Parts: sequence; C-alpha cells; structure tokens
Amino acid sequence: MRDSERELRNNDDQEGSKNDTNGLSDVPEGEIESNWDTIVDKFDDMNLKEELLRGIYSYGFEKPSTIQQRAILPVVKGHDVIAQAQSGTGKTATFSISALQSIDLTLKKTQALILAPTRELAQQIQKVVLALGDYLSVDCHACIGGTSIKDDMRKLQDGAQVVVGTPGRVFDMINRGLFRTDDIKLFILDEADEMLSRGFKDQIYEVFQTLPAITQVVLLSATMPAEVLEVSKKFMRDPVRILVKRDELTLEGIKQFFVSVEKEDWKLDTLCDLYETVTITQAVIFCNTRRKVEWLTEKMHSREFTVSALHGEMTQQEREVIMKEFRSGSSRVLIATDLLARGIDVQHVSLVINYDLPKNRENYIHRIGRGGRFGRKGVAINFVTGDDTRMLRDIETFYSTQIDEMPLNIAELI
Ligand code: ADP
Repeated sequence: MRDSERELRNNDDQEGSKNDTNGLSDVPEGEIESNWDTIVDKFDDMNLKEELLRGIYSYGFEKPSTIQQRAILPVVKGHDVIAQAQSGTGKTATFSISALQSIDLTLKKTQALILAPTRELAQQIQKVVLALGDYLSVDCHACIGGTSIKDDMRKLQDGAQVVVGTPGRVFDMINRGLFRTDDIKLFILDEADEMLSRGFKDQIYEVFQTLPAITQVVLLSATMPAEVLEVSKKFMRDPVRILVKRDELTLEGIKQFFVSVEKEDWKLDTLCDLYETVTITQAVIFCNTRRKVEWLTEKMHSREFTVSALHGEMTQQEREVIMKEFRSGSSRVLIATDLLARGIDVQHVSLVINYDLPKNRENYIHRIGRGGRFGRKGVAINFVTGDDTRMLRDIETFYSTQIDEMPLNIAELI
C-alpha cells in the first residue's frame, strides 16, 4: 500500500535544481549519477535555524564540506536523497544538520529516525546530533541492542525527537508498541548499502512499513552497488542523487601499500616487526573473523605488545569500554572485525592494517577510510599472501588506485 501511495505522489521540483530524471542504466557499477547541481558553499547561506548555526560553528566547522554543500539543501527541502561520498568527508554532519533543521523542536515526538549498522556507529551519530544540536536542546536517543529496554522505553515515551538506532532494537521497540512512529518525517539510512543488503534488509523494510506514507527517505554511503540502487527504487520517490566522484577526493590522502607475506604464518611476525611503526599513531588492524581477532590479540599479548580488541561477540559493556579507551587515545592499537569498518570516526587514526584482506571491495574502502579523516593523511598497509594477489589487483582496478609495495621508510609516511 505504501508503495502505491508513494507512486501517486506528485514529484515536482520547483524549488530545486535537478538536472534530469534519467534512469541509472549507464552508470558504472558502484556509482550513482548526480542529478542535482545546486551548491551552497557557506553554512550561513543555508537558511538554517540560528541555534543550529551556532551549534555548527561551536563544533568547530567553518565551511561545509563538498557533500554538505550539495546534500543538506535538498534534504531540508523535503526531497528523498541518495548521497554518495567518500569516507570521512562529512556525511554524518550532512544528515545530522538536515535532521536538526527539519524537525519541529516544540513537538516532543520522534520526528527523525536514523539507522546505522553497528551500535558503535549509532552512538557516535547520537553524539554528533547532540553536539550540533546543543543550542536547540534537542532530545536524541540511541536505541541499540545490548542496552536496557526499560531505559529505551522511557526515552522513547518521553518523545526523543531524533532516534538513532540499530535495526534490530528499533524494530523490536516498534513491534512491542513501545516506539510510536506516527510523527516521523525523516528516515535516514547511514551506510545504506550495508543496511539494504543481506542481514538487515528485511528488518529495514519492516521498520519502513510502520512509517507514515509521507516520510522522506535519505540514503548515504561511500559505496552504492548497483543492486542497492535497484532496491532503493522500491521505496524512494524520484530521489535527488548526489555523487561526489571518487577521483575528486577519493583516497588521495591515504597512501596504500602491500607487504607480501607469502604464507599466512608469516603475518604475525610481520606485524610484530611493524609494531613500533604502528604505535607512532593510532591504528586499526582488521581481521576477517572474530576468532582471528581473538587469536591475534592473544598472540600479541603473549609477545608483550599492547593491543586491544573489538568484535561483535563481546558484551555491550566491554564494547563501550574498548571504544572509550580508543577514542580517548589511552589505547592506541585496536584489532577489530568489520564491525569497525564503517563510519567510525577517530581522528587520530592514521594507519589501517588489513591483516586479512576484506572479503569484498566495498569494505576495503570503508576500512581504509578509518584513517585519513576529513582530508588528513592516512596510510593503509595490506598483508597479502600469494592467494590474495588477485584480490588486491582487483581492488586497484576497481578504484583506479595504486597499491605499492611498502617502502622501508614507512614510519616517515605516517
Ligand atoms: P563520513 O560520515 O563521511 O565518513 P564524518 O561525518 O564522520 O564523515 O566526518 C569525518 C570528520 O570530519 C569528522 O571528524 C567530522 O567532525 C569532520 N567534519 C565533517 N564536516 C566538517 C566540516 N564542515 N568542517 C570541518 N570538519 C568537518
């Protein structure tokens, strides 16, 4: 029913400047095609609430980033929007500012729902919304698994104006009748491609079904595989599409290297040899499985290297402590699964090591994007065994990038 209602909607764009409504058929895999060309290069010219502007400047932003210059306006104007821009370029603030501008702060009801794939990311987004919305006294609640349902219930019933959550808990709360969605006018999917693939898709649909028919939908990610764009057609109304091209800002700031290790067994010694270099900065080391994270952490500990670990089988409390220590800089090297691949913003991370190459090329981009945030310098080092060489070449070709052999003076580059 919702879909037909949506199709009946009138989609005129008098106030925007969409330049076409072409389909997506000629677009290379992994990219959308922009159909919006208005750029607003100052926060002052965005017609934002006074208190929101104050929040933005107090947070330390002076000028909107490329994606912010393009995407805030169409969301505020009420369009459905798909925005694709590299990791670390300010997508979180893009949708947070848009949501804060769009909601009615005199109304104590949930008006914006933001979903993210991990608890850590949802909590990080909540902090950004609260900080940017500091002078608006906005209520923003993180509705995530592993926390007290009672507390969730209270916050939701108090009418948290913005809810940031993970799909499972959010759906559970809606299902139990503890989260009313009647006043939601903005539905935002961060890391949209991850959210609309595999595990999450059905839950997202179920949440979506409970939203009012007029709810505006916004999708954001650094990667947008074609099948996700296809799926998005089912629940988006003639969306504005904004692509900040790969070659404009891509991985420019992130130098990528590989180390040939020939055999899996040699990776551990290689990492130990690199440890001194690694601890010049904060670093994230990615492994492909929880067991491997545990194994590597144990091995490093037994050789008396200080590292911490994060994966999805740890308790929520443990996860929070680990993240807090890493964010504060008191822990410097974090071994993690892809739980940490997306969205997490720790500004002092300038080194990412792929102990294992990721299983898909999207996650490669997300992982190495943990370093080099907002144009800072970053280095990514890939450990490759003989079997991995093809995957590495594939990544190079797909992203038109270059991954060189790691030089001896690597420490100077970090
Ligand atoms: P993304 O969601 O695209 O991966 P984030 O929104 O996490 O990126 O932003 C990356 C970093 O850049 C964050 O530390 C954020 O505070 C900072 N940032 C975002 N927008 C701006 C801006 N306009 N000016 C300065 N810093 C910004």
